[in-house]
Amino acid sequence: MVRHDLRRRGITDVRVLAAMASIPRELFVPAALQRRAYADQPLPIGCGQTISQPYMVALMTAEVGMNRTSRVLEVGTGSGYQTAVLAKIASHVWTIERLAELLTSATERLQSIAISNVSCIEGDGALGHPPSAPFDGILVTAAAPWPPAGLLEQLAVGGRLVIPIGDLAGQRLTVYEKTTAGVAARAATACRFVPLVSPQAFNA
Ligand code: SAH
Repeated sequence: MVRHDLRRRGITDVRVLAAMASIPRELFVPAALQRRAYADQPLPIGCGQTISQPYMVALMTAEVGMNRTSRVLEVGTGSGYQTAVLAKIASHVWTIERLAELLTSATERLQSIAISNVSCIEGDGALGHPPSAPFDGILVTAAAPWPPAGLLEQLAVGGRLVIPIGDLAGQRLTVYEKTTAGVAARAATACRFVPLVSPQAFNA
């Protein structure tokens, strides 16, 4: 998977490639789908949600731009696979999931592979996690109509927010970089994520 789907498609960040080579993705998909764990495609993980395709996990991780001292927030824990990849590279990861059932199994999986630099939080991640802000990087694995204001506020200067922007008809992975002069946005690749559900952030 690393050689065929990630390197060949332009992922060059050695920390991302090493992290993904070291994590058993089959532990993060339902038993019946384990045969397909290393195919470059999203897979259902229950509760109507999906584990992202490996290429997208790699790309988003590289776009956040972390190092060993980074404090990172992830919104949308899902299976916990992206969380594990972030935890291999960053100093600490706070991950927020709104569905308790998914959060519980993700927490168990992370423990089973001895990943301990993660705080798993149940709640609405579109509001961020003010007690632990600011974050050096924020990664959202569900699509939003616009970047939630709370997440931009909780981003450190020099940090990046990586988030799919759009709806079910079309989305673009978008990178927001915070500088002393303000926030600059850059649209990256087209993508397809489940919606970020937040009545509070999006007034729905
Ligand atoms: N990173 C995950 C992808 C999970 S899919 C993985 O690789 O497995 C997106 C997840 O975001 C779903 O589990 C969904 O329940 C969750 N989600 C949607 N809206 C949310 C919100 N406002 N706060 C936290 N989690 C949310």
